[in-house]
Order: sequence, then structure tokens, then C-alpha cells
Amino acid sequence: MMVVLKTTAIRGSGGTRQLHAAASREEATTGERGGLRRRERTGGTMAAPAVVRTGRFPPMSADIVIVGNGIAGMTSAVEAHRLAPEKKILMVTEQNHSTINAPALKQFAIGKLSREHLLAFPEGVELAHQLRAIRGRVTTIDAEHHRLSLAGEFQIGYTSLLLATGSAPVGLPVDLPGRDYDGVLVLHRMRDYLDLRRRLPEAQEVVVIGGGWHAAETALSLASFQHLRVHWLMRGQAGMSHALDPRAFELVLEQAYKARVSVYLATEVAQIHGHIGAVAGVITTRGEAIRCQLVLACTGTVPATDLAAHCNPPLRCERGFVVQYGLRTSATDIYCSGDAAALWDPQQGGYAPRAQWHAAVSQGRYAAHAMLASKAYAGPSPFGARWHATQIGELTVLTAGAPLSAMEGSEVITEDTANSYRRMVVVGDRLVGYLSLGRDQPEYGLFIKELIDSGRSVTRCGLLTLKGVRTTGALAWIGGSA
Ligand SMILES: Cc1cc2nc3c(=O)[nH]c(=O)nc-3n(C[C@H](O)[C@H](O)[C@H](O)COP(=O)(O)OP(=O)(O)OC[C@H]3O[C@@H](n4cnc5c(N)ncnc54)[C@H](O)[C@@H]3O)c2cc1C
Repeated sequence: MMVVLKTTAIRGSGGTRQLHAAASREEATTGERGGLRRRERTGGTMAAPAVVRTGRFPPMSADIVIVGNGIAGMTSAVEAHRLAPEKKILMVTEQNHSTINAPALKQFAIGKLSREHLLAFPEGVELAHQLRAIRGRVTTIDAEHHRLSLAGEFQIGYTSLLLATGSAPVGLPVDLPGRDYDGVLVLHRMRDYLDLRRRLPEAQEVVVIGGGWHAAETALSLASFQHLRVHWLMRGQAGMSHALDPRAFELVLEQAYKARVSVYLATEVAQIHGHIGAVAGVITTRGEAIRCQLVLACTGTVPATDLAAHCNPPLRCERGFVVQYGLRTSATDIYCSGDAAALWDPQQGGYAPRAQWHAAVSQGRYAAHAMLASKAYAGPSPFGARWHATQIGELTVLTAGAPLSAMEGSEVITEDTANSYRRMVVVGDRLVGYLSLGRDQPEYGLFIKELIDSGRSVTRCGLLTLKGVRTTGALAWIGGSA
């Protein structure tokens, strides 16, 4: 059983009104049987939170509690308020700033965007949607009694709980010599990019480590600085090997060379050298010495699932919090969305996070509908195909579904022209994977995802105009004609 406080909107000067657990404790009042005596503020502000260190009912409770104010959590909060303005929504997050557009951090680092540009929602959105927020880290969940605890035993009750805890960076090996020198940065959160932005004007050479999109985008965007020499190291013989075939990776490499990036394939950092406490260079596993003042780790992320083991009963995890239909976790009334959620991927045959912006947004919306038992969700299915769009140098890259799939009965169609490269994987007349790199912005990006998700016949869809696509057999997308 739990108590749900009725509160009114928070008044403030824009931005999230953050309640600090320590401060709240001073206002604590407990009532009979461990319940609460509610203390109302006048003037339309909120009821004061109270703390019970013991007792059955947490005095601060909400209809929907959301852990994490990244894009997944915040999208859910806004959507839930839109669907049910009478419901009390509370966000708990350890992030010390409003929701930002994480993909834009790369542009922020090189000075193309300001901090204001990073805001994913207009300032004051929390106030406009009557969202309350507490800054703090959730440490345990009592799923049986529908409550969670923050560090310091502050407790919060919920009707529905959404875990939108995102991901954590993999970083560098713990035993890598020199990883603690000043100038070694793991790029993930805003503070890392603030740090990088301050350091860049003084650096002449930088080593970027990683074989994924994050490393590629970082290396190529830093190369836009004329004063900077960029070295890009990756462990494998090719980067983005889950999404790019050899020809596509060759095109990415061409962009890197054109931008004067030195690329080191099948190479790792064996040791970081320092001089009076700061980075001076790296030694690679191939014995090369590279002088640099910055080492930037872009080595991928893992879902932030620490809470799984601190939940009673423990939450099922498999490369993320396993979620089923409705983004429900293994515990009643606990949902998960965004980078932390592991969804069934029929193309891969396992649970895995989507870990991309577009997926986090659609999952955030979908989770709000699921928590409120709304049947009105009309957006893209969060269980659909992967979809990713990015810019690498002069190339716009789009991947959807499983472009490298070699499933039985699949046919691969490629098109290689002076300006673009495309690869499509079809099974019968269904599209299962798509990859394109080109100088033009593809306007049909999300349509491709929808085509894969729906399993519609590519021979009949007739909606797509991919100029110049070579068609084979029954496959004809141009104007829907064969
Ligand atoms: C630098 C960078 C560049 C990217 N570039 C692209 C791109 O170009 N294209 C693309 O599609 N995707 C990109 N992504 C991925 C995309 O941004 C993420 O998929 C998306 O932001 C995930 O959102 P989220 O809300 O799930 O998680 P997050 O944004 O990670 O938010 C999780 C929040 O939960 C909080 N939290 C975690 N645990 C707790 C706890 N126990 N208690 C309280 N709070 C907690 C964290 O502090 C954080 O605020 C990029 C990501 C990064 C970091």
C-alpha cells in the first residue's frame, strides 16, 4: 500500500525545481502508523515532502516516478502529463542539468553550438508540465511495496516506476598504464564535453580511441580544427563492423583521410605517457609512439543496470533491463526505456538495447502510454528495427534494420555511384536491412524503418523514390512499378 500526495505545480524561475533530499528531511513530518501528515504550502507551490526513516508508507509518493532525466525519462514525463494532467509525476535524477541533446555534444565540443543550444526541451518545460524533480541517486527498489530509496534512506512511493537510467561509458581498461594522467578523457556526459571544449585550444595533437560511430564522429569533427592533428585508433581491422560492409567502411576512411585524420587499424593503446602529471603521448600495441596532449576514449557504452541487483526481487537483466510488451520489466509496475532497456530483437535473436536517440524518444513516449494504460500510442514501435542517421565528414549515413544480415533466403542489392553507396538486404520482397552513405540528405530515412517494421512488400509500396536503385527480379521500388 502506498500514499499518494496531491500537490500543485511548483513555482520557480524556469527549469526543474530540484528538491534536495537533505533539505527535505528538515521538513519531515510523520503521522500515525508511519504515514504522513501532509504539509501544504500556500501560494500554489507544492506540498512539503516528508521523510520516514522507518514505517510502512513513504510520505513522498507519486503516480509515476521516473528515474533519470535523459531524453527517455523526460519524454515520458512530458507525454504522461499530456495524457493525464491530473497525475502526479516525479523525476529522480543524479544529473545536475536539464535534459540535453546528447548527440549534439560533439558539435558543442568544437564550438559550433552553445550550452543553450544543447537543451532538448524549451527552458521551463518542467514547470509547464508540472513535473517535479529531485536530484539524487536511487540506490534500492522495493518492488513488492512499490517504493524506492535514495542514498540516505530517503524513500519515495510509486504507482508506476520508469527506469530511464541510460548507459555508462566503457572507458579504458582499468590496468592501462597512464590512464590517470590529466588530459585522458572518457567522453560521455556534458561535463566531459565541457572539459574537452576548454582544453582544445591548447592541444596540438589528440588521440581518439574507439571503433564505433562515436569515435568516428569525434575524430572527424575535431579534424575541422586546423591547428589540431587527430589520430584515430581502433582495435579491429574495420570500424562500425556491426553496420558497415567493407565498401562502406572504405568510404568512411576516405572521409577521414580527406580530413587529415591519421587512422590506425588493428591498433590499441598499450601505454599512456605523461609529463609532470599530464598526457604527453601514447605507445600503441604496434610499438608506435604518438605525441599528444589529449587522449579521448569513445569506446562504447553499457546499459546502466546497477539497480537490477538492488531491487527486491531482482530485475531480470540481459544486456540491459529485459523488457517485454509495454516496456515492462520483470517486476510488476516497473517499466524501462532508453539505453537501459533490452528489447527483443528478432533480427539478432536476443535481447539488446537500441541505445540511440530516436529509439530513446519513441520508447519514452511509448512507456508513458503503457504506464497509463493508454491505447492511443501512434508513434513508431519501440520494438521495431534499429535506425541510425549520422554525418561522417561530407557523408550522410543511414542504417536501418540489419544491413549485414546473411539470413537464409536473403538477397543483397548494392549500388555504388560517384556520390553514394547503398546496400539493401531483402528476403523475398521484404526489406530487412538498409545502409546508405552519400552526399545528399536522405529524406526517406524513417520511411525505410517503417518499411522494415511493417514487413510490407517492397514491390507494392510504391512510395519510395530511390533514384538510380538497380532493381532485380520482382524488386522494384521506383514508383512501385516493376
Ligand atoms: C556523446 C554522445 C553522442 C551520441 N551521439 C548519438 C548520435 O549521433 N545519434 C544517436 O542516435 N544517438 C547518439 N547517442 C546516443 C543517444 O544520445 C542515447 O541513446 C540517448 O541519449 C539515451 O537516452 P537515455 O534517456 O536512455 O539515457 P541518458 O541520457 O544516459 O540518461 C540517463 C539519466 O539517468 C540518470 N541516472 C542513472 N542512474 C540513476 C540512478 N540510479 N538514480 C538517479 N539517476 C540516475 C543519469 O544521471 C542520466 O541523467 C549519443 C550519446 C552520447 C553520450
